Amino acid sequence: MPKLAIVVGHRENAPGATAVSPISSSEYQWNGDLAEIMAAHAASVPGAEVSIFLRDEGGVAGAYRRAKEWGADGAIELHFNSAGPSATGSETLYLTPPSRPFADAVQDATISALGLRDRGIKTPNEASGGRGTQNLSQMGARPSILTEPFFGSNASDCQAAQDNKSELAKSQLEAAVNFLASMDSDEIWEVTADALNVRGGPGVEFATLAWGPLRRGAAVELLSREGDWAMISNSSGQRGYVHTAFLA
Ligand SMILES: [Zn+2]
Repeated sequence: MPKLAIVVGHRENAPGATAVSPISSSEYQWNGDLAEIMAAHAASVPGAEVSIFLRDEGGVAGAYRRAKEWGADGAIELHFNSAGPSATGSETLYLTPPSRPFADAVQDATISALGLRDRGIKTPNEASGGRGTQNLSQMGARPSILTEPFFGSNASDCQAAQDNKSELAKSQLEAAVNFLASMDSDEIWEVTADALNVRGGPGVEFATLAWGPLRRGAAVELLSREGDWAMISNSSGQRGYVHTAFLA
């Protein structure tokens, strides 16, 4: 039963960018509505549990603290982009290694719903000099992304978003829930090395985590695979990555 937190970007009294016609409303307003369509659609997606979190109380940290207390397996924060009138397309931001495949899945869903230019998945630094880093750091080892499905400053982007709003909500919701469900494998594996380092990402370039190394015979749950690496969790729910050569 994957639990997805939907965080609405910005606040009622600082509502973010305002989109041009035919949207003619703020990020906070348009995405609050989008979040409600997503949550309503979750009722027809088997196993999906969705809750909406606002930044009005306690800001970014407050919204994500409540999402974690609720037990969210992952989070998606809703925005739209803004620049000159000709900037166009969809992008999804991620920061941590577990969030990268989550961003890929939701970006694909966004492209299929809106049909705008695929600007790809990006880190906050690649997208805008770091904006979003604080938001995307809040979920720890749980996947967390920030969506920018269109440019509110571009009239034809806004037309596409307005015409396909329900489709956008449904396809993003389904992609997010299916991704989180795929991480809940219930597969238990055993460590076959004397001391197996646990890392923050899928590669030796990522730092080792303090809850490792794991001893031979330790049981771990396999959550997902990325090449020769697996994301695992221990019985306390801590997550990290190990090389699959040392699991059986
Ligand atoms: Zn925004």
